[in-house]
Amino acid sequence: MKNEQKHRNPQTVKCQYCKGVGYFQLLLGGSETCDHCGGSGRKHS
Ligand SMILES: [Zn+2]
Repeated sequence: MKNEQKHRNPQTVKCQYCKGVGYFQLLLGGSETCDHCGGSGRKHS
């Protein structure tokens, strides 16, 4: 179950960098807002 991205609803495309959560989980602890989607978790065009 690596790539479960399906193109059925274009308006809810998840950001591929943060997997739609809007932030990255840091190895050292804590989290960092995803720059690619601005923390929304959705892909911007
Ligand atoms: Zn993102």
